[in-house]
Amino acid sequence: MTWSLLIRGGTVIDGSGSPRQAADVAVEGERIAAIAPRLEGHADRVIDASGHVVAPGFIDAHSHSDLFYLGCPSSESKIRQGCTTEVVGMCSFSQAPIAPGREAAVRDWAGGIGAGIDLRWETFGQYLEALRQVRPSINVVHFVGHGALRLATVGPENRPVAPEDLRAMQRLLDEAMDAGAYGYSTGLVYPPSAYAPTEELIALARSMARRGGLYFSHVRGESAMVEDSIREAIRIGEEGGVGVEIAHVKVGGRENWGKMDGVLRLIDDARARGVDVSGDVYPYHAGSTKMDNLLPAWVHDGGLPKLLERLGDRAARRRITEECLAGGERWGTVSQGRVGFDEIMIATCRQHELEGLTLAALAGQTGKAPAEAMMDLLLEERATVGMVSFSQNLDNVAKVLAHPAIMIGSDSIGLSEGAGPKHGKPHPRMYGTFPRVLGEYARDRGLFSLETAVHKMTGMPARRLAFKDRGLLRPGHAADIAIFDPATIRDESTFPDPHHYPAGIPYVVVNGAVVVDGGHMRAAGTGRVLTR
Ligand SMILES: [Zn+2]
Repeated sequence: MTWSLLIRGGTVIDGSGSPRQAADVAVEGERIAAIAPRLEGHADRVIDASGHVVAPGFIDAHSHSDLFYLGCPSSESKIRQGCTTEVVGMCSFSQAPIAPGREAAVRDWAGGIGAGIDLRWETFGQYLEALRQVRPSINVVHFVGHGALRLATVGPENRPVAPEDLRAMQRLLDEAMDAGAYGYSTGLVYPPSAYAPTEELIALARSMARRGGLYFSHVRGESAMVEDSIREAIRIGEEGGVGVEIAHVKVGGRENWGKMDGVLRLIDDARARGVDVSGDVYPYHAGSTKMDNLLPAWVHDGGLPKLLERLGDRAARRRITEECLAGGERWGTVSQGRVGFDEIMIATCRQHELEGLTLAALAGQTGKAPAEAMMDLLLEERATVGMVSFSQNLDNVAKVLAHPAIMIGSDSIGLSEGAGPKHGKPHPRMYGTFPRVLGEYARDRGLFSLETAVHKMTGMPARRLAFKDRGLLRPGHAADIAIFDPATIRDESTFPDPHHYPAGIPYVVVNGAVVVDGGHMRAAGTGRVLTR
């Protein structure tokens, strides 16, 4: 036999959750050709995997790299973790569809997370074609953002949809599903997605049900109202006739941490009565999003120009502070719960010298009250500030990770170190999510077996997405493969010093091409835009 690649002497963990076995893996072109002990044959390239685990490439079940692929198609900080596929278009954000004349609203809306985007398309199909042209290094599974559907029909205003608006949204969703989208996502804490009543979301789910579309939900509140919010997401799936994924399952605000058992029970109960619901999680107790998400939804009504106008208005600022300042020292929102100003860190903004400061420290430097310092910063930066907020609890993180219906989603962006220093203090999950689950949680803490950990990042999301030929190591499947050392795999990215790739992952193969080779990023442009 001759093959293009032979991975010899490794321990195969196939992604199904089955026990490991010693075996060689042969690849011919883009496909796995054979898996068996001591394969005999000639290969153009042989990788010695002794002492290493050979696993399917990891699937990031929840990613935001799509806003950056056009500028950073390598998605290097994901690939280096062993990821070979990312699920994007999450939390209501996607760059398509776009209605003519609405480009500015979409740009403002995406700008808050620091994306420089180039909107050369209208339909979702045209956008996917543009994405194929930039040749991402990683496979891409795309959802349509509900926020994009709303911006293209209703605009950024807070108003219910008229029947003709809803029909227009359903038509756009249909077009996207035709082009290859896997379903739609909400971010019900992010305007304009947040302005939708449940009925609108059920109607959209129904319109994609017969095509097997999925509903990926960033729920309406992840703090005091988390249980009602999970109920709503489950109801949308149940009444809409589609599968539901609860994004980044968490409870924000220490006053709400005790609600986590109830949250997981809601998921268990729904599954017990036959609802197709699952979830994803990242292995950290801090979240990260746009800092303007610390403002109530009414401040966003009408889009960025209106938001900046309100931030400049004294009465509006007073109202914001009255609604959000809890006990004079914590800041409370539906997405975060009550968070201390010393627990909110500036991750990225144009004034690089402020990156890494907490809002408490910024207040100290400027001599302002923390809430005023935060609103002034948002105003100066035109609301383009990324933040990291320590609103969660590590015991809950472990509880969610261990749950049998939960898979791994980083909720992050693929970055490239490239040449020169990197600015900003982005959340370390961008570099460390998958090795942290395998190293810290499976190996060091023994939360679950390595086989279970690998399953949560391969076979489980593959089944969720109904992949026929990815997510498991099987002859005939796509040759997406991660090779790691189970003794040394470790995340190296930290909150104060995030820009570090992980250790212990010397080889990553995407569609048969060795992309990470001996610990170095070599190939590029190897990914595919996957369609259903
Ligand atoms: Zn989200």
